[in-house]
Amino acid sequence: MTEATGIVGEFLSLKAETDADILAMQCGDFYEFFGDDAELVGEELDLKVTSKSSQGQSYPMAGVPLQDLTPYLKALVERGYRVAVADQYETDDGHAREIVRVVTPGTLLETSDADAQYLAAIVVDATAGSSGRSGTGGGSSAGETTYGLAFADITTGRFLVANAEDVDEAMTECYRFDPVEILPGPRVRTDDELLTQLRDRLDARLSLADTESFAPKRATHRLRGQFGDETVDRLELTEATRSAAGAVLSYVEETGAGVLASMTRLQTHRGDDHVTLDVTTQRNLELTETMHGDRSGSLFATIDHTETSAGGRLLKEWLQRPRRSLEVLETRQASVEALAASALARDELREVLGEAYDLERLASRATHGSADAQDLLSVRDTLAVLPRVAECVESTPDLAASPLTDILERADREQAAALQNRLAEALADDPPSTVRQGGLLARGYDDELDDLIDRHEAVIEWLETLADREKREHDLSHVSVDRNKTDGYYIQVGRSVADQVPEHYEEIKQLKNSKRFTTDELEAKEREILRLEEQRGELEYELFQRLRADVADHATLLQDVGRTLATIDALASLASHAAENGWVRPTVHDGDALEITQGRHPVVEQTTEFVPNDVSMDRNRGFLLVTGPNMSGKSTYMRQVACIVLLAQIGGFVPAREAEIGLVDGIFTRVGALDELAQGRSTFMVEMSELSNILHAATEESLVILDEVGRGTATYDGISIAWAATEYLHNEIGAKTLFATHYHELTGLADTLPRVANVHVAADERDGDVTFLRTVRDGPTDRSYGIHVAGLAGVPDPVVDRARDVLDRLREEKAIEAKGGGSSDPVQTVFDVSSGSFRGPVNADGGEPEPDAGETLDADTQAVLEELSSVDVNATPPVELLTKVQEWQAKLDD
Ligand code: ADP
Ligand code: MG
Repeated sequence: MTEATGIVGEFLSLKAETDADILAMQCGDFYEFFGDDAELVGEELDLKVTSKSSQGQSYPMAGVPLQDLTPYLKALVERGYRVAVADQYETDDGHAREIVRVVTPGTLLETSDADAQYLAAIVVDATAGSSGRSGTGGGSSAGETTYGLAFADITTGRFLVANAEDVDEAMTECYRFDPVEILPGPRVRTDDELLTQLRDRLDARLSLADTESFAPKRATHRLRGQFGDETVDRLELTEATRSAAGAVLSYVEETGAGVLASMTRLQTHRGDDHVTLDVTTQRNLELTETMHGDRSGSLFATIDHTETSAGGRLLKEWLQRPRRSLEVLETRQASVEALAASALARDELREVLGEAYDLERLASRATHGSADAQDLLSVRDTLAVLPRVAECVESTPDLAASPLTDILERADREQAAALQNRLAEALADDPPSTVRQGGLLARGYDDELDDLIDRHEAVIEWLETLADREKREHDLSHVSVDRNKTDGYYIQVGRSVADQVPEHYEEIKQLKNSKRFTTDELEAKEREILRLEEQRGELEYELFQRLRADVADHATLLQDVGRTLATIDALASLASHAAENGWVRPTVHDGDALEITQGRHPVVEQTTEFVPNDVSMDRNRGFLLVTGPNMSGKSTYMRQVACIVLLAQIGGFVPAREAEIGLVDGIFTRVGALDELAQGRSTFMVEMSELSNILHAATEESLVILDEVGRGTATYDGISIAWAATEYLHNEIGAKTLFATHYHELTGLADTLPRVANVHVAADERDGDVTFLRTVRDGPTDRSYGIHVAGLAGVPDPVVDRARDVLDRLREEKAIEAKGGGSSDPVQTVFDVSSGSFRGPVNADGGEPEPDAGETLDADTQAVLEELSSVDVNATPPVELLTKVQEWQAKLDD
């Protein structure tokens, strides 16, 4: 096969230089793709693919116009591709091309998504003894692998580093930042299990950065160069963390995004300052998206009323990273309270904030050199928002007395005003979106420019009035003056009068109905105007670049102002939601007590006539067993508690009449498993690994929510696991726990474990009809109402009626067997609560049931009974339920 030459050959050799998935190469006014790249791009972007031949071979080819590259680039990168861009430049003998940038998900500057766009690196701490990991939730903490992490958002200049004590914490951190691209360090690359977790749990592209860039020495050097020795030393970063941070910096530099200058601050993210929300919990509580992956219906979407994208980004960050510091929370609360009480001022504030643009992002664009004049106008207008916001706060006594005043202090208003003025003086009112064609700057900004503009305009004026002058002077009709690409400026005269033109007219073209002429004077003016246009464009561009550099030099100021406005926006959003939905300021404290009066679920209350409920927990009542019929509201009740605690720990108000909330260090949940099923992992396995995570990670100060643990397996297994987990959480961990279970047997635990209390969601059953009261009351419930749910699910009436008969018969038989005493629940009699062991039809070792002497049920009935009690009504499709009921009937009829 012959080597391709010419343009295709150049493309292929550039492509061989880069590890990018796709290369876009400039060829004149187009960016072209060849070969496989052309086909890929053609398919992904619906571009027309043609072909180009080279050395007798034909290559697919696709292209996009130069100025249209950005949207295509974005689309490709958002699909997870890394795209190299090669630009063309002039040389002595023609032109050459080189790769100027590799655009990746984490280094895409042109994003239009309001979300943060984190590029992450994760590194195993090589100083730790063994390379063996304990795996998800297993093993001991001794010799556990630790991790260093770095997160950079190049669109805002945010740069954070974090330490993780084990793999779960590393995953939790990753989930908190939700990066779009991850650079796994050398040892992470060989860790299949962690890689799988990163791939499954996060929607991020895994990219292989240069291994060298992770080398601790080189990385540290890189880090010091960026943030200064003093900062790096003060933060006492671990080697792994320095390695991760250095690798991120190198990657940003190598991909050519050119935004390093906007990253001026190195921040440490300390897990200790934040409430641990493991991956599962963030999903279970539907913080930023629902279990089905929708944004709307999430907690964030419900409470987000921010006016700016930066404010929305910050509010989301708060939700993903709730705080543990009373001081931080009380400060936010005080601001929210003041804002909630000042409706008018709040509305005004929000209206003013609505005029703000995304300053952090604009700062990055200025640093990168891609900001145009309209961007700088946006900077100007946003800087102008700051004093108006300050004015609004200061003129409202409640707001002026609140911590909002301190928040405003974080931005240097004097500097901001100075920059705003410089921009206001410099920029034209309505500049074009191109930066090289003039029209960017205002009159009065620069004398030399003004002079050029005056002269330019004088020539234009001369040209505009030329036609009239010629008509008058030479007594001509049908005369016009115009300009086109080939002829330049010309005087056009109608054919009827074309022979009356004066001597000095020089004919340049003959058209059907007219003739075009030029004159020496016109030619001179034309040369002058071209010269002036070029000079003006050059000077304006130069002045503009200086202005843009001035803005870039103030990146930190812009980040401060942006952050300040975003903070006030987020606080005002919390206040608005609180005011509109009757939320209250919770009392937060360091103790154990959790007292919520008339609490509601923040999301469900939006769409449902919600029945409020109380929760009361403290040191002596730290474990609530929640029972109640299916569909009565157990899961909702528990999530509501978790959401209220979470909202309190972002510093917001909560949906309740009154709330007193002891701060927690982590929220752990095990609720439902819809999405896991979709991923093809067995629910029981998932359930157990989640339980294992919780039992490892939760502490005395955590809040644990367990929903139907043990459901995924046979009844006795399930009860045993639930039983043991309850004891462990109660005796060993001491975490605040809410545990919903359909194993009524467990309710007896309240008698033996001092901190366990029973509550149930009440329902009314009359004549076989169940009314859900949605009210949580003290004490256990004893029925599961499964048949009622079967009816709700659409199982035909005759089957439901028959099931009721069967159940009644079973209950009667059980009652006779129990000689009139005990419970009416058939399962309860097989489990001895006081000893925690099985009796009756089950062996003490949990083996197969054997009929014993006193047994009055035949084996078939016994089997039906067991199946009936273990069937998961929520998880079984109606049709299957129907089939089951029919099978049971058949068995019982035999
Ligand atoms: P369970 O976990 O007991 O099976 P869920 O918590 O899933 O029940 O709730 C079942 C239904 O009842 C849900 O549709 C929910 O919206 C509604 N619900 C739950 N609690 C309340 C409440 N306090 N007020 C109004 N509706 C509620
Ligand atoms: Mg439930």
